[in-house]
Parts: sequence; C-alpha cells; structure tokens
Amino acid sequence: MPLHRATQHDERAMSVNPFLGPANPVGDMTEAPPRHRMPTAPMAPSTAYQLVHDELMLDGNARLNLATFVTTWMEPEAGVLMAECRDKNMIDKDEYPRTAELERRCVAMLADLWHAPDPLAAVGCSTTGSSEACMLAGMALKRRWSRRAPARDARPNLVMGVNVQVCWDKFCTFWEVEARQVPMEGERFHLDPGAAAELCDENTIGVVGVLGSTFDGSYEPIAELCAALDGLQERTGLDIPVHVDGASGGMIAPFLDEDLVWDFRLPRVASINTSGHKYGLVYPGVGWALWRDADALPEELVFRVNYLGGDMPTFALNFSRPGAQVVAQYYTFLRLGREGYRAVQQAARDVARGLGGRIEALGDFRLLTRGDQLPVFAFTTAPEVTAYDVFDVSRRMREHGWLVPAYTFPANREDLSVLRVVCRNGFSEDLADMFAEDLTRLLPDLRRQPGPLTHDRNAATGFHH
Ligand SMILES: *Cc1c(COP(=O)(O)O)cnc(C)c1O
Repeated sequence: MPLHRATQHDERAMSVNPFLGPANPVGDMTEAPPRHRMPTAPMAPSTAYQLVHDELMLDGNARLNLATFVTTWMEPEAGVLMAECRDKNMIDKDEYPRTAELERRCVAMLADLWHAPDPLAAVGCSTTGSSEACMLAGMALKRRWSRRAPARDARPNLVMGVNVQVCWDKFCTFWEVEARQVPMEGERFHLDPGAAAELCDENTIGVVGVLGSTFDGSYEPIAELCAALDGLQERTGLDIPVHVDGASGGMIAPFLDEDLVWDFRLPRVASINTSGHKYGLVYPGVGWALWRDADALPEELVFRVNYLGGDMPTFALNFSRPGAQVVAQYYTFLRLGREGYRAVQQAARDVARGLGGRIEALGDFRLLTRGDQLPVFAFTTAPEVTAYDVFDVSRRMREHGWLVPAYTFPANREDLSVLRVVCRNGFSEDLADMFAEDLTRLLPDLRRQPGPLTHDRNAATGFHH
C-alpha cells in the first residue's frame, strides 16, 4: 500500500449531488461528509455508494492499461463464484475444507505442469501474489544456507540480474540478504549465466532466474544458468540452488514453449513461483509457490493449522486471506484445461507479435523484443528520431486513454529509455488495431516537435514493474 501522509489532507467536505438524498433532495446536501475524518453520522447506503462510485470514475480504464500484467477481465461465471466465496477465509482450513481441497488440487496441477519429478512429493501453497511467493521461496533458500553452518559473521547473498522485479530488492532488504546483481550489457537486457556463476560464493543462498523479465518480456536462460552452476560445482564444490521467478512465464511457457526446459526438469531448480493473477488469468490477489520436494522447504518454516480433526501444514506471511481467488484459479484450470490455456496465451502472443510488427513498420521505432516469449514487447525510438522521445509517446497516448509506461533501463544501460506493451487476454486484435491507429495518427505531430518535451521523466509516467 502507498504510505499516505497526514499532511496531504484536504479539509474540504465532499460535494454531494442533491439527487442523492433518497426522499428529500436537500437532506444529505446539508451534511456533506468530510474527506479525511470519519463522518459523525451514518448516511443512506445508496448515497455512500454513489459517492464512492463517482470518485472511482476517474481511475484509468483497466482494460486499456497496457502497463499491467494483472488480469483485467474474467468470465461472469468466475465473478459469480468469487462473489459466492468472498466471505471465506483461506486460513480456516477446518471450516472451509472444500476451499482447502481446491487449493491443494491447484498445487498438484501446477506441480504436474512444471514437471515435478514426483508431483506427490512437491509441496506448495497459494499466496497473495508472486511477491509473497518470492519472500517464501527466498526464506527457504536462506534457511537452507544457514543449515549449512556458515561462519558466524557470514553475510548471506542472493545472485540475480539487475532486471529482477522489485520484490527481490524487498526480499533482500527485509531479510537482510546482500543482493548481487548482474548488470545489463549492450543488447543483453537480462542475466548472463556465466556472470551470475562468477558472483557466487560459499554464502550465496541461491540464484534467481526470471521467466520472463518485466523490463522487456524476455525469458532468462534458465537451463544455461543451471549448466553454469553445474560447472561451478565441479570446479569449487559449491552447490547453489536456483529459484525460478515465473510470475508471468510460469503460465506461458508450459503451454506455448513446451520444448523449453526451465522448470523442475532441471535438478538444480529448487522452487518456482507464479502469479495466478497474471497469465494465470485470475483477478488480483493470488500467487503460487512450489518446491521440488520437502527437502527444498525446511520443516521449521512450516506452521500447522486445524484441518478435519488433524492438522494441515501452511507456509504464508499472512494469516487471514480471501478464498475467492483460489476458487477462481481452480475454476479457470477446470474451465480451460491445457488446450484452453494454450489458445488464450497464443492469442495474446499473436496480438503482441502483430502489434510489434506494425509499430516497427512505422519506421520511427526500434523493437528490443518482439513479443515472442512473454506476450510483451519493449521498443524505443530509432536513432535518427530526435524531435520526441518515448516519454512524449507515453504522454500523448494517454490522451487517447492508452496507458503505456515509458521508463529508463538500469545499469549498464541507463542511456536507454523504452516503452513497453503488455498484451493480455482481453486486449484483442481489434483493440491492438486501434492502438496502432492512434499511434500512427500522433506521429506527424510528434515529428514536428522542436525536441523532447518531457521535463520530469519520473512524473511523466509511472512504471510499475
Ligand atoms: C509481477 C512480478 C512479480 C511480483 O508479482 P505480484 O504478483 O505482483 O506480487 C515478481 N516477479 C516478476 C518477474 C513479476 O513479473
């Protein structure tokens, strides 16, 4: 949550439309509620509803938000199921045993999908999203390292590419682990396996590989990373586990890139996470973390809750959590099956590739990625374009309702600024056509600019990894 500060308070009361007084049009108007203090008296539910509803109209349109990876459309049936489950607390396994069972089935399905050598031995859980899943996976890595009895003053470290999602910076800060980051180099925008292996030492708790990178949608080379760490083990004896952050790709690659070996088929992969609410196709609030086997998840991190007279192991940061998203995940697995998921993800990738091609054909832009891994592509202005920059494009596209983030790459490519388009289910070929038409129509205007017009790049566009 953003940490809102008390100094931002606006002392004006909310303005109330006279129509909102249910029977007496002047009634509620005289009791306009304050914004930042709890009102003294109650008001009619219809009035409260209308006030909140009206304020939310100014939020962006989620379907036109090409910045987010998160699901913005589900079938009405999924919405009905979620409404039916909104009163169920996921932690109450004993009270809601069927919800607990659906969670268990989802874990089993993912273990199978990600080729756990023994799906019955794999352990896993639902979370609020990939961030919580990554915290849990990182904690397991750290605990395994501390079991190896490091020197008393040893400081643990975690190796990753500089392109990791912000949750890994959080993990390292919250759990006091040194983040060792492989920089970008030239046209390589994610981790290099050899460079990652070189950063490892006896206090490395693990290496994070990302499938795929939020910066450009590219898959990191997980198999090559494991091979580089195999080489390290042969040379030095260091046996470093890999965690795959499959927040997006964990639900793309199994359907569209079956021959790509990135998951538990690689013995070095100890754990994998995904966001059920990204390409898992569920509304926000669900992620998954799985470990290859019980050895990969130290027993002392597992707590137990009542379940049907016995107890059930749980691993989570939260206690209470909604059950609806887990139910919706199970619904979607059941509803689509492998073929359904393949069709949905293929459609998203087709849209990404098609739109990327059209943007490239405009001549003003250079594609960094083509949407052929995650259905996501990043592009920048061609070298000869000097009249405007990616921040101008982002700002002008917003006038048409499109939310496309522009941002600058991290070390060692701080010179490079890009736009990124995330294609999701619901961003159809037709919408992509309209996007391309709007961009095309803007170009003459942009080309006439005397130079880039965006002064404050940070304020110009929010980049939410
Ligand atoms: C989105 C994302 C995360 C964070 O996931 P949430 O589900 O939003 O908490 C972590 N890693 C990667 C690679 C991501 O794309």
